[in-house]
Parts: sequence; structure tokens; C-alpha cells
Amino acid sequence: MKNRTLIIGAGGVGRVVAHKCAMNAKIFGEITLASRTKSKCDAIASEIKDVVVKTVAVDADNTKELIGLIKAVDASIVINVALPYQDLTIMDACIATGVDYLDTANYEHPDEAKFEYKEQWAKDVDFKKAGIMGLLGSGFDPGVTNLFCAYAQKHYFDEIHTIDILDCNAGDHGYPFATNFNPEINLREVSAKGRYWENGEWIETKPMEIKMVWDYPEVGSKDSYLLYHEEMESLVKHIKGLKRIRFFMTFGESYLTHMKCLKNIGMLGIKPVEHQGEKIVPIEFLKTLLPDPASLGSRTKGKTNIGIVAEGIKNGKKKKIYIYQVSDHEECYKEVKSQAVSYTTGVPAMIGAKLMLEKIWHKEGVHNIEKFDPDPFMKELNTQGLPWKIEELE
Ligand code: NDP
Repeated sequence: MKNRTLIIGAGGVGRVVAHKCAMNAKIFGEITLASRTKSKCDAIASEIKDVVVKTVAVDADNTKELIGLIKAVDASIVINVALPYQDLTIMDACIATGVDYLDTANYEHPDEAKFEYKEQWAKDVDFKKAGIMGLLGSGFDPGVTNLFCAYAQKHYFDEIHTIDILDCNAGDHGYPFATNFNPEINLREVSAKGRYWENGEWIETKPMEIKMVWDYPEVGSKDSYLLYHEEMESLVKHIKGLKRIRFFMTFGESYLTHMKCLKNIGMLGIKPVEHQGEKIVPIEFLKTLLPDPASLGSRTKGKTNIGIVAEGIKNGKKKKIYIYQVSDHEECYKEVKSQAVSYTTGVPAMIGAKLMLEKIWHKEGVHNIEKFDPDPFMKELNTQGLPWKIEELE
């Protein structure tokens, strides 16, 4: 029977997912792209020449509306690439309709800059009752970084003791300040306190307190700052013998100066303020002013390099490996009209969904990605546009 794929969200990532599903139409079958603003879906669908992509407007905050849409499409899978705020409503609609679910970012409450898996993991029972699978965090980080860890664990170590996740975007879009994915989500993430996990405990740091310089292959040396990032929450549960895990992301001087200034004047605030008789949320207003991340694609030059360094023991000896993936912004744009940050998120979302539809990965309940055999996914990365490398450092 032909599959029917429902993609929700027509931003930077949604564009890549739609293009990549269309390139794999044998598996994805009939593709429908739904989002709040239908014209954005139509623009993406018109770029895809060989396959018809149907488009529809949906308010993904409204579970009832979503249930109607999933039924109307008769979806085999729902790929959620809207915002993290919509994770729970879309998961509920999948439970009600008995349809598999995938996302790339964990639930975040709009009124609190805090993201965690608790509420999504709590839906495991209902997913099992409904006989469906939910795959959480099938982007790049979370997503591919989790699988790099699972791959290292499976093929290179008896025990992994430390992991550093290293995320570098050396792209230049020519604007003084812009974010590469949804500005609200991005700025909430990077302005929050840092956190890492050591010997069973979470250790909190001030925002950007810990810095190191890392020499990223094909990119060069970059200042990298410790942040909290969601994949650590599940990796500490699933990687054997782990003693420490940290996450670092690169930021340039100019980005940090803008951030500091915006924070100091209150533009990153998430609580409504009164402005000339209207209530406005500062960070939402800032989003309106900043360039749309989806528009950065054609202007961005340079590369991303995201990977993990794992250290541990194999056959009684110390071992250290580096697994990473390099993408070129201009190459990504040539292929699907998106810069590399959206590309490196959208391709893994498509691959996760493909493995689910092919039943290569299929298990009832709600699962983080590293619980599955990493090999088929790692193989797909090499053929679907995200080839990776391994270096043995020790
Ligand atoms: P964008 O802001 O570019 O796109 C989000 C899309 O969701 C827009 O089309 C928006 O519609 C739509 N949307 C928002 N709210 C609703 C709603 N209530 N109902 C229907 N549609 C809605 O974001 P990105 O494409 O950059 O990011 C998409 C997701 O990917 C996010 O969850 C982000 O956190 C995640 N991500 C994950 C990464 C990873 O590596 N794991 C990396 C980067 C992003 P409208 O245009 O009308 O506003």
C-alpha cells in the first residue's frame, strides 16, 4: 500500500524535509505539507518539480484541527517540523488517530524558557496503547549527534567515559545579526544558563561562562561555548559507563556582543510588556525585526561542522575518537534552496521517517533516537547528503 506522509511546519527545516521526502517519493508516497501560513507551503511545493506536494493550512496548537487533518490525509506518518511548542498537541493528535510521529526538538512551553523530555516521555504509555511509535529528536543535534554516540558505543568502545558534542557553524550571511533557525527558539537556547553532566549530577554555569577553542576540520579554530542542549538528557540514560557529557557551540564576537546588548535592554524577554496600549512579547517582536532564517539560504557562505569526541576504554586500553559531519551552506542551497543549518536538520528528519516507514526502525512507544541500531541511519546519511568521517585521536 502506498504511504501518505504529512509534514507539519513550512519553515527552513520544513522546506528541506519536503524536498528530501519528494526525492525519496517511492517510500514517502503522497506528500502533504501543512503549516499555519498556507502560502509558505505553496511556495515550497512549487519548487518541487517531479512530485506533487499537496498543501493545507493548519493550526498545530489545536489538537482537534490536527486530528481532522491527519484523518483527511489518512497519514501513515506525521513529521513535526513546526516549533517545539506544538510537540504535545501533535503527539496527542497522533495518539487519537493511531499514526506514527517524529520530531526534531523537544517540547518547550511558550511561557517558560525551559525544554525537557518529561512531558513527551510521559506519553509513552498512550503511544503503546495506540500501537504507534514516536521518534523524538531526529534532527542533527539532537539526532545525528545521538547516533554518533550510539555508533561509537556499538563499534569502538566497551565503555564511553566522556563525550563532548561540538557544534560549529562557520557560515556568514552578511547581516550584522541574524539567527540560522527560528530566532525565538535560538535566542532562548543560547541566552539560558549553561549545564553539563558529570558523575551523575547536572552542573550549572552562567551563560557562556565556559569557553574552549576547538580546531574544526575543514573550518579551522573557533571559540566554542558550553551550553545546555537537549540531547544530553537522553544520552546520560543510554550511554554505558558515561562519566561526563558536555555540549559546545561556536559563536563569533559580533554575535555575542549583539546578544549581550539585546539581553541587557530586555529584548530577549518572554513575558508580555505593555506598549502603547498593546501587549507585546519582546522576543516575538525581535523575531519580526530579524531576517527570516529561511531567507538566509541564498546569502550564506561557509561550512558547518558538527560532531562528537568520545573517550573511553576498548579491550582494556584508552581510546578517543572524533566523528563529525561537514556541510557547505552554498551546496545545500543549490540542492534544496536552504542553508546548512536547516539542511542538516531536515535530512535526518527525513531519514528517521524513512526507516520508520520501512519498518527498519519500528517499536511501539516514545523513543529517543539513540535507542535504535545506528547502522542503517549512518548508512543513509552517507547517501542522502550528509557524509560523515571518523578520526581515531588515541
Ligand atoms: P521556522 O520558524 O523557520 O519554521 C517553523 C514553521 O512552523 C513555520 O512554517 C511556522 O508557520 C510553523 N508553525 C509555527 N507555529 C505553528 C502552528 N501553531 N501551527 C502550524 N504551523 C506553525 O523554524 P525552523 O524550520 O528553523 O525549525 C523547525 C523545527 O526544527 C523547530 O522545532 C526547531 O527547534 C527544530 N530544529 C531542530 C534542530 C536539530 O538539529 N535538532 C536544528 C534546528 C531547528 P508560520 O510561517 O506561519 O510562522
